[in-house]
Amino acid sequence: MEKGFYCPFCHGQLYVNERIVFSAKANSGQHGLILLTSDLGDYRAMKHPDFTIEEGEHVDFFCPICHSNLIVEKEAKMFTRIMMLEAGDEYEILFSQIAGEKATYIIGEKEFKAFGDDANGSTNFWGVSPNY
Ligand SMILES: [Zn+2]
Repeated sequence: MEKGFYCPFCHGQLYVNERIVFSAKANSGQHGLILLTSDLGDYRAMKHPDFTIEEGEHVDFFCPICHSNLIVEKEAKMFTRIMMLEAGDEYEILFSQIAGEKATYIIGEKEFKAFGDDANGSTNFWGVSPNY
């Protein structure tokens, strides 16, 4: 089965040409499209240069298909939550909505993985420790 990333609300496929597509809105009020690679822990977001996001700024992520806000809050931190399907298994993907903060989590039925320099402080949110 093809790897996919999809919206938890409408189950629309967000994964196109090896990029995960989001509609996003920065605190400044600017909005635009953001593309992420499927390499979790790779934080090079692709966007138009006119869509400026400051380091440390909070960015809201929306499903480009149903426009649901993909935010979840865990212990006062804000994450974008999408689903990943890989080799028939389903995972939850959470990544920080603070620009420049490198924290991504993959949560599966038996698996929990944390990626990124800023991920360590918050690895016990779900009562499980990461297994690498
Ligand atoms: Zn959706």
